[in-house]
Amino acid sequence: MSRFWSDVVKGLTPYVPGEQPKLANLIKLNTNENPYGPSPRALEAIRAAADESLKLYPDPNADALKRAVAGLHGLTPQQVFVGNGSDEVLAHVFLGLLKHERPVLFPDISYSFYPVYCGLYQIDYETVALDDDFSIRGSDYARPNGGIVFPNPNAPTGRMLSLDEIGDILRANPDSVVVIDEAYVDFGGESAIPLIADHPNLLVVHTFSKSRSLAGLRVGFAVGQPELIEALERVKNSFNSYPLDRLAIAGAVAAIEDREHFETTRRAVIATRETLVADLSALGFEVIPSAANFVFARHPLHDAEKSALALRQRSIIVRHFKAPRIDQFLRITVGTDAQCEALIAALTEILG
Ligand SMILES: *Cc1c(COP(=O)(O)O)cnc(C)c1O
Repeated sequence: MSRFWSDVVKGLTPYVPGEQPKLANLIKLNTNENPYGPSPRALEAIRAAADESLKLYPDPNADALKRAVAGLHGLTPQQVFVGNGSDEVLAHVFLGLLKHERPVLFPDISYSFYPVYCGLYQIDYETVALDDDFSIRGSDYARPNGGIVFPNPNAPTGRMLSLDEIGDILRANPDSVVVIDEAYVDFGGESAIPLIADHPNLLVVHTFSKSRSLAGLRVGFAVGQPELIEALERVKNSFNSYPLDRLAIAGAVAAIEDREHFETTRRAVIATRETLVADLSALGFEVIPSAANFVFARHPLHDAEKSALALRQRSIIVRHFKAPRIDQFLRITVGTDAQCEALIAALTEILG
């Protein structure tokens, strides 16, 4: 605390990102990165963009990327907003579309950045308890609110809510924006993007960090009807005119164009996840059904924090949250087959 800090800064509780250790030879299964590299075509495009033209500002509207995203999802560029990672997109969403008199609603177990944005922008919020089996109950969101946001599949549970139930939430809340954060949807979920045409209150957020393996490039986007997108543009143009640099725009466009790399890598992650779930279950873990690139699992006989620590001593890192209801769970990112086999071997040893 310093006397130079503003009152806003004094009151902040910042987000704590998953650890990025500087050690080599770690099996890193803690931050849901993709174990396969980005599209070689994306890397080539980034290299090609690293030239003399970097002396010029990038396109402030990233039109090439908006066109590529629109083409991918059958939308118009006016229905697309792009930002410096979906975290930045979400920040603009909280300020531009979720800050109202009534509280924002999100699940009690969810992406822990949401309450942080509420703190930053001084937005009132209420959490809605997940069911005992960690599913979102749509009917719990039929109550007065200033907006609704949740990931689908949810994080860190991996559970998916059906499009029917999302439709019910949209219809029950015609005067609120409902934000579906689809960071993990490409690993087995069903996207709500087709619902945009019929629902002016729906905004869907995506990232290039997970299924396109470009966490280091920082690209995310939101899609919705143009009046929602215009709110985000107004916030963006009051904050940073150039959130996406030339390399990011070039790499993201090429990543979208490389359909084949996207399909093979996401299918590989899904196949490995199914093996990992079977192997964890054979060790006695209870695994929540996952439609994401991670699994959420607890062992009825072994303390999660101790297991995480024992894994770390064997150079394998997974995520453990010291939070109510989930402190006996491990969140394990789906790595390569070899990484998951090493994890299972280590757990077999640890559980004795
Ligand atoms: C990873 C993640 C994000 C952030 O993605 P970036 O584009 O890397 O900022 C957003 N929402 C959820 C639920 C995530 O897990």
